[in-house]
Amino acid sequence: MKGTSEYRLGGPNDPLVQEIAKQKGFSEIPFYRSNPKKEAKFDLNECMQRWMAYAPDRDGPVNADQTEGNDPDHLTALIKAKGLEIGGSDIGFAELTPIMINVGFEFEQRYIISAIVAEDYSKVLEGALAVEKEAFEVYVECARVSTELAAYIRGLGFSAVADHNGTGEVQAIPALNACGMGELGKHGSLIHPKFGAGFRPGFVITDAPIVPNLPNIFGVQNTCESCRICENNCPPGAIKPADDFIVTDGIKRWQVDIPKCFEASRFREEYCHICVDVCPYQHRENRDPERIATFKTFMKKRKKAGYRTPAWFIEDEAMILGEES
Ligand code: SF4
Ligand code: SF4
Repeated sequence: MKGTSEYRLGGPNDPLVQEIAKQKGFSEIPFYRSNPKKEAKFDLNECMQRWMAYAPDRDGPVNADQTEGNDPDHLTALIKAKGLEIGGSDIGFAELTPIMINVGFEFEQRYIISAIVAEDYSKVLEGALAVEKEAFEVYVECARVSTELAAYIRGLGFSAVADHNGTGEVQAIPALNACGMGELGKHGSLIHPKFGAGFRPGFVITDAPIVPNLPNIFGVQNTCESCRICENNCPPGAIKPADDFIVTDGIKRWQVDIPKCFEASRFREEYCHICVDVCPYQHRENRDPERIATFKTFMKKRKKAGYRTPAWFIEDEAMILGEES
């Protein structure tokens, strides 16, 4: 099956990031450039190398025997239990469709498995660098979990290939949506009922017969019609109003102004994660008291900073870079 989803390369090689850097006269992208003071606390490039190191093991030999048979209910239960055991926070299943694959790539297999890993929400209160470290360490975990889960399925006697942001052949949002991992929010990230948008994905594409999930609709897209919290907290105003959207396969996709987002997320030293952290779905469905308390404390901080202004980020950045005691 050939992929039909248009995509851009991520990271420092993103052509849009390169173009903006050229217009600004930058020889390096601030977020990715070497900064020894920051690296003493979190070395992003070292973390990305650990993440990419999983890519060569994404596929491998398949056991000639189907050791657990080929009953879809049994295999689905086994694979889900294994995915959770090795560190996945939730595991979902779907039939693979062309929109889940990026243009230029193809898979022979019939099914896709989403293996997501949740971020620790309390990190938002430790500051911007802690959030960045958590997000990227979770990307490494997604690569590990998807790689190990694919190897497990090959051991059961079925072809299985891991995909994660270090390999990048799967289009995450339609795959996550079909696997029942949640609904797309106005900020452009998928919202899971338990973790909000605070998670990262990994995938396994397989021929193991599994039982597909249904999309998990719990009211997010309706809430986004009237909620403006991410819009009002995005420092460069990249998240657009609720009436600016397109519909793909029945799913509303609100437009995020990517060049504006990059002002906060690529052309500063630190990552920006504010739209994910201010979203009330961090606690709205799961009703976790700790998450509610974290959300309230964080929003008080945002209010003091004037919501959209990145003032607290700037203070934090100065501390990270050793400019404050
Ligand atoms: S990552 Fe930051 S800049 Fe980008 S949309 Fe979210 S809040 Fe706005
Ligand atoms: S903050 Fe509000 S508008 Fe934004 S994604 Fe979350 S629920 Fe939707």
